[in-house]
Formats: sequence, C-alpha cells, structure tokens
Amino acid sequence: MRDFAAELEARKDAGLYRRRRLVSGPQQPNLTTDGNAVLAFCSNDYLGLANDPVVAEALHQALPETGVGGGASHLVCGHHDEHHLLEQALADLTKRSAALFFSTGYMANLGVITALAGRGDTIFSDRLNHASIIDGCQLSRAKVRRYPHADVAALAELLATTSGHKLVVTDGVFSMDGDIAPLAEMARLCREHDALLVVDDAHGLGVLGEQGAGTLEQLGLSEDDVPILIGTLGKAVGTSGAFVAGPALLMDYLVQKARTYIYTTAMPPAMARATRAALALVRSEPQRRAHLQHLIGRFRAEAQALGYRLMPSETPIQPIEVGDNWAALELSRELEARGLLVTAIRPPTVPEGEARLRVTFSAAHTDADLDRLLAGLADCRCFYPG
Ligand code: PMP
Repeated sequence: MRDFAAELEARKDAGLYRRRRLVSGPQQPNLTTDGNAVLAFCSNDYLGLANDPVVAEALHQALPETGVGGGASHLVCGHHDEHHLLEQALADLTKRSAALFFSTGYMANLGVITALAGRGDTIFSDRLNHASIIDGCQLSRAKVRRYPHADVAALAELLATTSGHKLVVTDGVFSMDGDIAPLAEMARLCREHDALLVVDDAHGLGVLGEQGAGTLEQLGLSEDDVPILIGTLGKAVGTSGAFVAGPALLMDYLVQKARTYIYTTAMPPAMARATRAALALVRSEPQRRAHLQHLIGRFRAEAQALGYRLMPSETPIQPIEVGDNWAALELSRELEARGLLVTAIRPPTVPEGEARLRVTFSAAHTDADLDRLLAGLADCRCFYPG
C-alpha cells in the first residue's frame, strides 16, 4: 500500500500542507475563525451578498412553498419552477438566448467541456485556467494544447496549425491573479479559425459591467462573439450554484449530454429563489461595484507605496506577490497575529515559486477595514522579502 502518512509529512516539510479553519457565524468581513475574531480579506463574496438580509429573507420565504430538498435530478422530477425562473433571470442579465442552472461551477465546467469536446477534437486552454477547467479537459479525452497565459499570438499559432473541431476555453477573470483575459482578440481568433469559445466568468460576474453581467458586458462582447458563458453564483452573487448561458440549441445539447447536469440532484429550489433575489440586487445596486472600485484603487496606491508588489489587476482579486512558500506563510501568519486574515496561496494552486497572498475585497468592507489592512501591512513590511 502507498505510504500516505509519509506523503503528508513531505507536504508539511515543503510548506504545502493545507489546514481548514473553522468558521462560526455568517460569511462577512468580520469573521470568527477557530473562535477568534478576524477581519477577512480572502473571501469571494465580492458584493457582500452572502449575508444580505434581503437574500436571506427570500430563502426563508421560499422554504414553506418549496420544501428543503431538491428531490431528484433535473431530468427525472427535480426541475422546479424556481430553477426555470432563475434560468430566465440569468439569460436576461447576461443578454443570452438561454441559460442552464448547474449545482456548482466545478460541475458546470466539467459538464460543458466533456459534452462539447471529445476524442479527436482539440481543446486550447490557458495555462492559468481554474482546476475545474483543467479536469474537464482531461476527462473529455480530447487533445489538450495549453497556451502561455493570455498569449493571443501563441494561441493564434496553435489554432492555425491544428485541424478538426476546436474548443478554446479560458477564465474571464483569472482566479489567482485577478487579470482579465484578452477576450475581444480571442473572439476574433475563434471566429477566424471556426473554434468554439467558452469563457468561465466565475470572478467577473456581478463585479464587472454596468449591470454586473460580468467581463463580457464590460468588454461589449455578445453571444455571437462568445457563444458559451459560464458563471458561478457562490461568489459575487452570494448564494450557491452556477450556470451556462448561450444559444438555445447548445443549452438543449447540454441538457442531453452534460453528465454533471444529468446525473446529479437538483439544487434545492429555495436556493434558486434566493439567488434570483440576489441577482436583482446585483443589477439594482451598482453602488456596491462603485465602492469596490474605490477600495481597489486605494489599496493599489497605498500598498504599492509601502513597497508591496501587486499584480496587474483591476478586479477585487489583488494578490501580493511573494514567491517562496514559507515566506508567504510567514507573512500570512504575521497578519493573522494582528487580526487580519489573508490566506497564502501556494502550488499547485499557483505555479512553483509564485506563492502569494491573495487579497480580495468585498463591497461589505469599509474604508476603516481597509485602513486596518494597510496598517497591518505597514507593520509586517519587515517580513516581506525584497
Ligand atoms: N471556475 C473558477 C474560475 C473558480 O474560481 C471556481 C471556484 N473557485 C470555480 C469555477 C468553481 O465554482 P464552484 O465554487 O461553484 O464550484
């Protein structure tokens, strides 16, 4: 038998062991973890909707009407009115012909990629794509050609030298870097080479665009430019689940073919109702996005003035570059000792030698919260290499 204990020890020796913190109470900037009060800058609750009273009330009101459980998969008898209404709201927000509600973003990526590409086809995937995209590519049995991060010229070269069916897949906003994929150029390339473009906008939805419809809205790209859009609902939207949106024919195809849609229990319908309430807030409260942009602007200016190296990101994902795993852990620990929770991200989540502190902002953070983070960073500057 494999020596699992030795493998765990080796992980600890390399500074790669991960431990879970126990959170009590709701997700919000002032978080209780392992019984301690901390101010957290590491959640994906970008708009502060995870603990919004309007959304919580929608969930509460739906329960007596819908019950608790999802009951069955969508194709058996689990497809509820509430799922249908949510799909319509998602199609409406993203200005797409149709949408399909999935239980998680991980499942959406696995299901979409394996349904739309298979043996004999080629998938082109950005090197920094999310793990669920990487797993979907592997599971599809298609040939996978990974291109250097956001490198449109390299992608063009690969597309030009490949025959057969082609699918290009990318994060919209990269989850560990915060930068935005060059989607306008990618859409043009995909049209030129008859490739199907799939964008996972898990971190753009809610945050970017005037209505919060995400990266594609911000860049002015339509369903004709990017046929398949994937979004997740557990981040800026504050609830749970995910969706795929695009041409009705492709959504119909996915209902028939996406195994992670077909062979799983439907999300409890009350959660779909709560998500619809959250989406209404995403659209009607642009001040949340404006406040977020204000926090991001302040953080970038003031953290760089302290000598911290940031990545080229204009989104709420604002990683501090570190490099060494141990150094990232130490900086994170020192901040935590000052009541600030910013988790260290290490390989394999990021490439070797590129450990970082993934600072994220939420519209629920106040300017005083940001002041506390910056004071903590000033105090910990001696623990930052370089
Ligand atoms: N795609 C990206 C880019 C993500 O960052 C994540 C979650 N970290 C997912 C998909 C998975 O979404 P979910 O959490 O809903 O499974």
